[in-house]
Amino acid sequence: MERVDVAIIGGGPAGMAAAHAAASEGADALVLEKGVPRADREGMGPDSTDAAGILDYWVDLMEIHPEEMPDDVIHQELDRAEFVGPTESCTLTSTGIESSYDHFGYTFHRARFDDWLRERAEMVGATYRVGVRVRDVDTDLTVDTDSDEPRHRVHTAGGETVGADFVVLADGPQRTVTNQVLDDYLPADMTASERLAAPEVNHIAYQEYRRFPEELFEKLSTAITFWWGHMPGHTAYPWVFPNENNICRVGLTMPIGLDIDAVENREDYPLLAPGDETIPDGETYIRRLLELEWGDEYDIESDFPLVEDHGKRDGTETYSISSTRPIESPVEAGIAVAGGAMGTTSAFHEGGDHVAIRSGAIAGELAADGDLSSYNDRWQDTIGNELVRNVTFADICRAYGPDEWDRTFETVRGMLTAKGPSLFSLNALRSGFAGLRTYYRYKKRKRQFVRDGYTQLIESEYVY
Ligand SMILES: Cc1cc2nc3c(=O)[nH]c(=O)nc-3n(C[C@H](O)[C@H](O)[C@H](O)COP(=O)(O)OP(=O)(O)OC[C@H]3O[C@@H](n4cnc5c(N)ncnc54)[C@H](O)[C@@H]3O)c2cc1C
Repeated sequence: MERVDVAIIGGGPAGMAAAHAAASEGADALVLEKGVPRADREGMGPDSTDAAGILDYWVDLMEIHPEEMPDDVIHQELDRAEFVGPTESCTLTSTGIESSYDHFGYTFHRARFDDWLRERAEMVGATYRVGVRVRDVDTDLTVDTDSDEPRHRVHTAGGETVGADFVVLADGPQRTVTNQVLDDYLPADMTASERLAAPEVNHIAYQEYRRFPEELFEKLSTAITFWWGHMPGHTAYPWVFPNENNICRVGLTMPIGLDIDAVENREDYPLLAPGDETIPDGETYIRRLLELEWGDEYDIESDFPLVEDHGKRDGTETYSISSTRPIESPVEAGIAVAGGAMGTTSAFHEGGDHVAIRSGAIAGELAADGDLSSYNDRWQDTIGNELVRNVTFADICRAYGPDEWDRTFETVRGMLTAKGPSLFSLNALRSGFAGLRTYYRYKKRKRQFVRDGYTQLIESEYVY
């Protein structure tokens, strides 16, 4: 049986950051990645979610500056985010959070980024194996960490077994392995799949690569644009992210299984049509968005062609997203859950590479040191603020319909200060009656989360 110090399941940002940190500390670190093909990558690689934008202060949370990356990873340096409601809109030019990065943010090529994270980990001695699907992990809690016997046996679909002292679960938001492993430490009447992956909290994302008319791309190339209040459902919104060579990624996220008959005020959503009998699919929504925004000036089919050699296949890609809240790990068993599997991806705006990388790096470093016991405290100290902010925003915006988004954007637009309104500095929201209300609701909800906990599963719930 192959034997390593740290086995890492999943080779996305969290897994590769864990491998890099563990190998940097001298541990024998092995990443097992099932591998996903993409039209824009040679060979198999991780399931690279190529919506890919990073805000300024995320650079510091991630502890990786874009200057460290090869030039072809970065697509565009951003100077703003545009938020478009059905009748109101606002432009934010600052996140309002201190950062060492000079621009508003950047967009990047996620597959190249993931490949670079892999090279970075391999350079310090980590092993990356692609095309290996992990089936399950067996743990023998009676085995001491300093024993020659492995405490964990990682079983692959190909029938191999790898022995490891520590396991980092970084299998992403679908948690195919994480859920099974956590079940071993949860009371019999509570399975992780039921608790963390109920269908009503899960989302789907769909994205197309479209070549934009040059003059339009020039205008959009330094902005990320989001349309809120355009489609029904909690955390349901389309976006346009600038790629390169006049190509934009036009995508959307929406809850799975939303019933159109349960949607109130259907006529207020610009991307629903009167004759819709079901919630439209991603392709239809994107087509309608392009028509709504640019259909008057352009012929969408011929002026915004699909770029078929990009993305996963035929210029498109689809992902599942888990909109759960973060979970603590069963560290006593020598197991750390990191990144999307840990629920770090924001249920508010889907951002999460920065927190995946940071949580993975903490897990890798502690595993290499031979003691994971401080993992839950460490990630909460480091990225807890960011996670509770995301959880709070997701919560207060959960029931927002078109009117609430319009009112929010109108309020923010009305607060132009010398520096312009900022994304997260809610100081700005203190001005104006509507702003004040939003500001206090946010503060109150955040305080509640901090007091009562914002994690969905806490360490003391695990049974060893
Ligand atoms: C549509 C969308 C848009 C997003 N936009 C942004 C954005 O703009 N900015 C941002 O920062 N974040 C964004 N995110 C979030 C970001 O993609 C995630 O937070 C990040 O990918 C999480 O990294 P991870 O390593 O934890 O998981 P993943 O990237 O999901 O990696 C998990 C890996 O585990 C592998 N795996 C799964 N099961 C197994 C198994 N059984 N055996 C072996 N390997 C396995 C998978 O193939 C995958 O490669 C977006 C997400 C989505 C879905």
